Amino acid sequence: MRVGFIGVGNMGGPMARNLAAAGHEVAVHDLVPELVAACVAAGAAAAGSARAAVADAEVVVSMLPASKHVHGLYVEEGLLDVIDPDATVVDCSTIAPATARTVAAEAAERGIDMLDAPVSGGTAGAANATLTFMVGGDGAVLERVRPLLDQMGANVFHAGGRGAGQTAKVCNNMLLAAQMTATAEALALGVAEGLDPATLSAIMQRSSGGNWPLNVYNPWPGVMEGVPASRGYEGGFLVDLMIKDLELALDAASASGTPVAMGSLARNLYRLHRRVNDAGGLDFSSIQLLVEPGAGQN
Ligand code: NAD
Repeated sequence: MRVGFIGVGNMGGPMARNLAAAGHEVAVHDLVPELVAACVAAGAAAAGSARAAVADAEVVVSMLPASKHVHGLYVEEGLLDVIDPDATVVDCSTIAPATARTVAAEAAERGIDMLDAPVSGGTAGAANATLTFMVGGDGAVLERVRPLLDQMGANVFHAGGRGAGQTAKVCNNMLLAAQMTATAEALALGVAEGLDPATLSAIMQRSSGGNWPLNVYNPWPGVMEGVPASRGYEGGFLVDLMIKDLELALDAASASGTPVAMGSLARNLYRLHRRVNDAGGLDFSSIQLLVEPGAGQN
């Protein structure tokens, strides 16, 4: 397939390279030339501009930072006006569900099918093509591009209509933030009472408090090998990005009037953590340091 890929940063770069490796003609564009060059080295073509990238694309994929970039590019800068109405647009960025609905409606006015397809799985999932895609939009349109998504990920879910993929994504990350914060608290309490964090983790993992952070992403330094907590909270999923996703969740909750007390508390704790620990660039499991600044030092 001829694919136009816009935004080849931490996530989009490896995703575009996987499509090129699978034999697609991938024309990439990013504001950062070095990122484009890394894709060209892997078999993609440098398009030179967003308009050139989509010029004769059958599928347009974007992986941009936030709502304003997606709305800005497709609507304000008029990219939708130059995309072939027979092409399908798949936006994989994590953005507000409301923005996803607006941009998809603008696309539909021009006869273009657009899906929101945010992902979970982080940069490792992007590199290893094990991402989970949460897709909003028409199910028949999803079936047309499913083979392409399968080459970038391991799970593809149809969440519902326009914006539903984004809603699923913010629900998931709000739950994850609350789980991570509560896990950090439980570990801090146990250690303060004299328990070994690894022993307590093993007990809770197999008990009713068991959860994803305990299983694969333990926040206490040294309990689990290969996770950010055991390398100074470097790499992984940044506090800045988690706060962004929590803001999206709270915006959506305001719009629907849904009480999200745990999500709201998690957002405030992550904001506090960023402020007092200058933690925006650390992995989100570093919330452990807000609860117990000396975690792992004894
Ligand atoms: P990133 O900042 O590394 O990449 C975004 C890229 O978009 C940048 O290279 C930037 O130059 C480019 N860009 C911005 N505006 C552009 C424009 N108008 N034209 C062309 N290129 C443009 O971010 P990322 O980590 O790859 O994240 C991308 C999206 O995926 C975000 O919405 C993020 O929330 C989401 N996400 C990230 C992760 C993760 O672990 N990093 C995990 C899941 C989802």
